[in-house]
Amino acid sequence: MSDTLQALVAHWVRPEIRELNAYHVQPAHGMIKLDAMENPYTWPEDLRDAWVELLRVTDVNRYPDPAARALADRLFEAMAVPHGMRMMLGNGSDELIQMVTMSLAGPSRCVLSVDPGFVMYRMIATFCGMRYVGVPLTADTFALDLPALLQAMDEHQPAVVFLAYPNNPTGNLFDAAAIEAVIRAAPGLVVVDEAYAPFTDASFMSRLGEFDNLLVMRTVSKMGLAGLRLGLLAGPAAWIEQFDKVRLPYNINALTQASATFALQHKAVFDTQTAAIRRERERLATALAAIEGVEVYPSEANFLLLRAPTGKATAWFNALRDRRVLIKCLDGGHPLLRDCLRPTVGTPDENDALIAALREVAAEV
Ligand SMILES: *Cc1c(COP(=O)(O)O)cnc(C)c1O
Repeated sequence: MSDTLQALVAHWVRPEIRELNAYHVQPAHGMIKLDAMENPYTWPEDLRDAWVELLRVTDVNRYPDPAARALADRLFEAMAVPHGMRMMLGNGSDELIQMVTMSLAGPSRCVLSVDPGFVMYRMIATFCGMRYVGVPLTADTFALDLPALLQAMDEHQPAVVFLAYPNNPTGNLFDAAAIEAVIRAAPGLVVVDEAYAPFTDASFMSRLGEFDNLLVMRTVSKMGLAGLRLGLLAGPAAWIEQFDKVRLPYNINALTQASATFALQHKAVFDTQTAAIRRERERLATALAAIEGVEVYPSEANFLLLRAPTGKATAWFNALRDRRVLIKCLDGGHPLLRDCLRPTVGTPDENDALIAALREVAAEV
């Protein structure tokens, strides 16, 4: 790159963007892929055949329905959105986080969440030119530190508070009464991000309408449709109408509309898969916790947070990768995640491979 090109880029690209590292996805070819909270199960053959038939008659020469009505109707029902609430769809819930943040952005405004939490809240705040305030969770139990949250909200007056419920990357559910206290004390909006709803019985969805400032976000990614990129945001119409103005036209493409509508007509298939993942989560947690030196934290999601002995996490991660098992290494991120690893719950065979590999690694490395 010539010096002048570099200088031109440095002059025009905002410093906070130049300082960012792009969202990193690990190469996974040929690996047992337990790094990204995906549902490991594919579709039964007959379902796949019926889907391909549907795609055959889906025209892509025309723009899709801008409001994705057929899909929205299905989602209202599948996600049990309360009557009287409005909903908008995003190209993944990541896009919804972006639309909310973009709508609220301003030079003196901030986004607040908890750390360690979902990295996109911080990244998107930065994209939108907003300050990000991350309030630390309590050490070891990763609970909400309510006094610290109330103090930070009072001091920073956040336009929006994002809380993942269950939380990523820690996997736990925050105390519902503490979340309610945050909703009541927040000066602005509170978005409860329920990306892991298929793996827990807890939800704030039925409480929409009880608070003027509560919205609930869901995605179909973790239930088994990550490749379609589809999320939804539900809440009082007054908010959703505003956010819908910054949504780019046709953000949900025709193939996603057709495929997700079809998949939700067969939701029982996905419910069976996510129920199997929940059972496997318990089996995997018990087996991993029995390995010398491994601490397993309680999870209500489709992944487990593990702690390796001091200083071992990266070596263990690499040794697992050498054995073709790919998980996520969290060590080196937030201080509360020192020595931590995060495997996604896979199929019984994949989980057996992880258990066997980690037993070897813990004994040898
Ligand atoms: C995975 C995840 C999302 C992103 O979901 P997409 O719909 O795939 O964009 C949002 N929030 C949390 C907490 C997640 O873990």
